[in-house]
Amino acid sequence: MSIAIDRTGDFVPTETRNQLRVSQAYGLGLKTFLSRLDAGPHPAIRAPHWFTLNGTALNFDNLAAALRTSPAELTAMAPDACYARLPQELGLCLQCFEDALATGQPVTWFRRWMHPLYGVCGIHAAWLTPIAYRTLVRIRHAAEFGTVTSRLGTLAGSHQPQTTSPDDALWLQRLCCTWTAAQLPWGSVEPHELHNIIDVLAAMLSLASARGDDMPAAPDDLDQSSFKGFTLRSAAGHWLPLNLAVRLPHRQWILGIVAHVLRRAPGERSWGRTWPTSIAQRLARETRTHWPAGALEWICPQAAEAERQFIRSK
Ligand SMILES: [Zn+2]
Repeated sequence: MSIAIDRTGDFVPTETRNQLRVSQAYGLGLKTFLSRLDAGPHPAIRAPHWFTLNGTALNFDNLAAALRTSPAELTAMAPDACYARLPQELGLCLQCFEDALATGQPVTWFRRWMHPLYGVCGIHAAWLTPIAYRTLVRIRHAAEFGTVTSRLGTLAGSHQPQTTSPDDALWLQRLCCTWTAAQLPWGSVEPHELHNIIDVLAAMLSLASARGDDMPAAPDDLDQSSFKGFTLRSAAGHWLPLNLAVRLPHRQWILGIVAHVLRRAPGERSWGRTWPTSIAQRLARETRTHWPAGALEWICPQAAEAERQFIRSK
């Protein structure tokens, strides 16, 4: 789990519990600070960096007592994680940082930004700005965020997907990050079903974008090598395999196109009304046994028709 420490030493209160604050207000390193709370880390365990701090390195009962909360509450604050490694880039919202500075708040890293399917700021409804994972793990002080974000600010906007909408992506990201059954236009979908749909559609739409006239253009540098296999782990213990683009702008583009076809009926789409025939047939084959009823008809009527023909021919 990640840990949030504010200037009073309390775990951050409910209204800001999504924030990760690395405060050096005490003049102590994280390892020393946790040792003073008698929460570890265990001497045999190398002190974790704040970004990768997890429950295996800490004494939860002592930490909970020191922070005047319950071990169960601490566990519930654990972020969604990505096993066994995080993608090459995560995202942060520069506007959120500017808002914090304008109101005299410390610049903080939000726990929700660690979810690899999080590509849009829910507050500002804007694409997040990519930050390399290797940059994040080098940050040792809250103040260093300032240096990093001023450098990122000069690049902001140059990387953002042009052919898909942050509004669509935000809609899908909210469905994915709740880890509960989601209401899609054709009915209720369990988290594992939704992630499988995203997984298949990401691959099919990436292919279709290169071949179809009625498809949005993919980023120039997106190809098969842009994807790697990950396993997402929710705080509630769900484990779901997912192929993800390792770079944030690629994930954002994919989230946008997948969300568009999931959210909007074929006749209401800006594109994706007509799929390349070969891709529609492949989509029908790939989803034959494991997609909920109604999903294929909504997403790609051509694929649903191909499936009906296949059944009639048997
Ligand atoms: Zn924001």
